[in-house]
Amino acid sequence: MPVKKTVRDYIRTIVDFPHEGILFRDVTTLFADPRGFRLCVDQLVEPWAGSRIDKVVGLEARGFILGGAVAHQLSTGFVPVRKKGKLPGATVSQAYSLEYGEAVVEMHQDALQPGEKVLLVDDLLATGGTAEAGISLIRKLGAEVLACAFVVDLPELGGRKRLEAMGMAVHTLCE
Ligand code: IMP
Repeated sequence: MPVKKTVRDYIRTIVDFPHEGILFRDVTTLFADPRGFRLCVDQLVEPWAGSRIDKVVGLEARGFILGGAVAHQLSTGFVPVRKKGKLPGATVSQAYSLEYGEAVVEMHQDALQPGEKVLLVDDLLATGGTAEAGISLIRKLGAEVLACAFVVDLPELGGRKRLEAMGMAVHTLCE
């Protein structure tokens, strides 16, 4: 029998990426491992067994990998939130602050229906700015964000507190 590993055990840390002084939490090693990927998708969906979820929304880019697997597991549709200019149809957009400057994310206008219940998925929660932009897009279309789910939480960057202050349920697998 293989040694039982946790989700955290599969995540690699890369020093000084993308800038000097940053410890980058690399989930590609988690995704590449058959047991690791299975474990993390199972743990992401577990709280929603038996709940009504209409759509999973994934944040570019690692949120697509996770969100697709989570949507399949929950038998829901999947909706991507993309960086500006990537989606071909009519979009709603939302600007948000980065460490240096601003970014814009978009979602197709017809991707969600008013009243639909949505689970937002991404790999990692840091300041919460990216997730907050995703929540704004979902709300612009009149859908309801049931919860946000992430593999990694970096609690010292305050994302969980920020999302919880918005009334959001936050599910994370490790710190
Ligand atoms: P936030 O908006 O500050 O919460 O940053 C979260 C976003 O940045 C997510 O879309 C993550 O994929 C990405 N991100 C920030 N730091 C890391 C990291 O260490 N590893 C992987 N992704 C990261």
